[in-house]
Amino acid sequence: MKPLTVLALAALALPLQAQKSLPKDRQAVLTGLDSKMAHYGGLSKQIWDWAEVGYQEVKSSALLQEELKKAGFTVQAGVAGIPTAFVATYGSGKPVVGILAEYDALPGITQDATPERKPIDSKRAGHACGHNLFGPGSTAAAIAVKEWMQANGKTGTIKLYGTPAEEGGSGKVYMVREGLFNETDVVLHWHPADNNSANPSTSLANITGKFRFRGISAHAAAAPERGRSALDGVESMNYMVNMMREHIPSDTRVHYVITRGGEAPNVVPDFAEVYYYARNKNRAIVQDVWKRIVKAAEGAALGTETKMEYEVIGGVYNILPVETLSQVMHKNLGLVGGVTYNEEETKFAEKMGESFGATFGSIKKPGDAAKISTMNTNDPVSGGSTDVGDVSWAVPTVGLSAATWVPGTAAHSWQAVAAAGTSIGVKGMMVAAKTLSLTAIDLLSDPALVQKARSDWQTARGADFKYEALLGNRKPALDYRK
Ligand SMILES: [Zn+2]
Ligand SMILES: [Zn+2]
Repeated sequence: MKPLTVLALAALALPLQAQKSLPKDRQAVLTGLDSKMAHYGGLSKQIWDWAEVGYQEVKSSALLQEELKKAGFTVQAGVAGIPTAFVATYGSGKPVVGILAEYDALPGITQDATPERKPIDSKRAGHACGHNLFGPGSTAAAIAVKEWMQANGKTGTIKLYGTPAEEGGSGKVYMVREGLFNETDVVLHWHPADNNSANPSTSLANITGKFRFRGISAHAAAAPERGRSALDGVESMNYMVNMMREHIPSDTRVHYVITRGGEAPNVVPDFAEVYYYARNKNRAIVQDVWKRIVKAAEGAALGTETKMEYEVIGGVYNILPVETLSQVMHKNLGLVGGVTYNEEETKFAEKMGESFGATFGSIKKPGDAAKISTMNTNDPVSGGSTDVGDVSWAVPTVGLSAATWVPGTAAHSWQAVAAAGTSIGVKGMMVAAKTLSLTAIDLLSDPALVQKARSDWQTARGADFKYEALLGNRKPALDYRK
């Protein structure tokens, strides 16, 4: 099957009746975005092709900065000590509405834009979280809002935050620590998904880090008694952590990969490294579990006569939802509508559906991409973690998910990479761009709404809240993907 690279300019599945009830200025924003779908689709495909990993998104970041400059934004690049982070600003005064943009890829997962598994051998990374759509979609929204402000003589400020290294690099944490959100009233974001929803959902706080063991190398058969295996240190640590799973709160997630484990079986490895994540929606539990993981590492070093040191790489807060804002986002998502596939896209989705297996393949259907989920205000938790969490404790924050992936797709899968490189992904991205635009315009037009959101958020955050980054005072881990 050929990849879906031709972008249909036909309108998406728009609930046209509802949109016709919108004021003319809002309708103009939606039609304006429709007319630029191929352009923003092109940007997303370019970033998809580059697939740059965390803190190395040099070209992707520059591409979005260029786009914003051309549209009349002032760009401050290299903020918070991160070369690929930036803030683009248009307008002045209150309210200040921010939109987040991500553009990093995931290492080790490559895939062509096809409905069957087809890795691209020449690549080392792929957009398995759809951040190639996230960046351009948010940029499209920021520019659309700017054009609306200009056309209608509106005051206020729109800021596009270019936020690198979401996948494990905690890029936004450094931007929060730097105070870049202090003057911003509300922040909007979105994420690629296999469905359309604007739930006030939270996420898992996490702490991540690399544990490095050092031993003594020796011939593994001729002089094993002379050696001390660094890999034994890693394996002992992992064994203890795996025992520990029974004695931690059951909704905690702990996972690891051995990033260095020696080079040859006949050499006792003198260096080994394991990369850990610990997550829970409760930050205090994460901090406690992390301390116990460190103890396991110390115990492992003691027992294997190796030396251990560790480096906290990342750490993010859980998302603090603000229901007032989610209601506005949900209303706008309903107005915009979901994604409708053309014949070619339906075939693509059906073919891909065969790879989901009986369970997921039968639950979700390609037509589900057109639906909008009913709002669940009952504290839904997404299984992942995101550095949007830290932003949400610095400024009231609201997000949505848009169906950029074939229904049934899991994030971080080859199927996610594939769809993110097709018109299916672009259509979902435009749903997000439109919903973000309408929501930003609602906020810029209604100071009382901004005030209500801020006071709800203050209450939820608690009067005695004091921000302390879970990753401590460390500098950005610019080389964590090297
Ligand atoms: Zn991800
Ligand atoms: Zn993501």
